[in-house]
Amino acid sequence: MRLNTYLSLLTIVLLAGCDQPVPVTADTNKQPAVEETTSQEVLAKSEDKSGVPVYPEASVDMQLQQVSEHVWFVQGQAGIATDNEGFISNASVIIGEQGIVVVDALGSPSLAQLLIRKIREISDKPFLKLILTHYHADHIYGAQVFQEQGAEILAPVGADKYLDSPNALERLEERRFSLDPWVNENTRLVAPDRMLDSSEQLDIGGVNLTLSYLGTAHSDGDLSVYVEPDAVLVSGDIIFEGRVPFVGDANTREWLAILTRMEAQQMSALIPGHGAMAKKPNEVVALMRRYLQALREQMANAVEEMTSFDEAYPEADWSEFENLPAFDAANRINAYQVFLSLEAELLEE
Ligand SMILES: [Zn+2]
Repeated sequence: MRLNTYLSLLTIVLLAGCDQPVPVTADTNKQPAVEETTSQEVLAKSEDKSGVPVYPEASVDMQLQQVSEHVWFVQGQAGIATDNEGFISNASVIIGEQGIVVVDALGSPSLAQLLIRKIREISDKPFLKLILTHYHADHIYGAQVFQEQGAEILAPVGADKYLDSPNALERLEERRFSLDPWVNENTRLVAPDRMLDSSEQLDIGGVNLTLSYLGTAHSDGDLSVYVEPDAVLVSGDIIFEGRVPFVGDANTREWLAILTRMEAQQMSALIPGHGAMAKKPNEVVALMRRYLQALREQMANAVEEMTSFDEAYPEADWSEFENLPAFDAANRINAYQVFLSLEAELLEE
């Protein structure tokens, strides 16, 4: 796989180098960005003698924090996507007798490279799997570095939808500009080796992981990882601790059902996709669940009574949530989004 990718890149580089038109195949057709992104010089510079790519050194403060006997994580800083060299999301590390599983790949190859260095301070076991909770830029651009380490990449169904969308390449092009040099012409979109559309167990020697396929809650496909015996949940982006989430075009009906199931699970810690680890995980999940429930109930009343959104919104009761961070920025947009989706759900019935 790695060799193939390398060879096809090399072919493109050689062809581009002698000014030949790049042959149009179904594949290059799909990924027009590749041909203009590599030059022999860049490729040569970005590899060490063994052919393993070396990425620019990230200079962010990244601390590997121990969560439980087998689980560690690094916490990205609060901020927008281009702050802090793109280190705004979390990654988790689970170490069993057989090896290491990493959940989410951070927002650049440089960050992933730094994470691997941190991991190597505590373990020399092989990298078994990289699990991506969902395909959004801030969680996947480090994936190629784990692939180079030999990790199998697992992701929920929906990753394919993201990779096929024009948005995926547009976003990468934009980040190559806004996050240069951390995301640059050597950064590529990596497809998962395998996609999950149901739940499965993974035993890595004394540690059991339950990978739960969550459907299309926050993105085109979401996945969570529950680690036993530690009782730690790695939730991806479906949990936002202590603040109002941006619902976006998430399916709130499914999201709500997932949170209700999670709430019933005994958790000692919860590592979200962004922000601090939750010390009282069940309370955090319960708050998220109540928020989504309130959004849906308040807006369902309006839809049923055929009240307009502008009339219904100020009359709704948001008192439990109006003091939470991001309420002002997110709540009205969320309510409107849910209002529209409830109208659509009504038509489905
Ligand atoms: Zn995210």
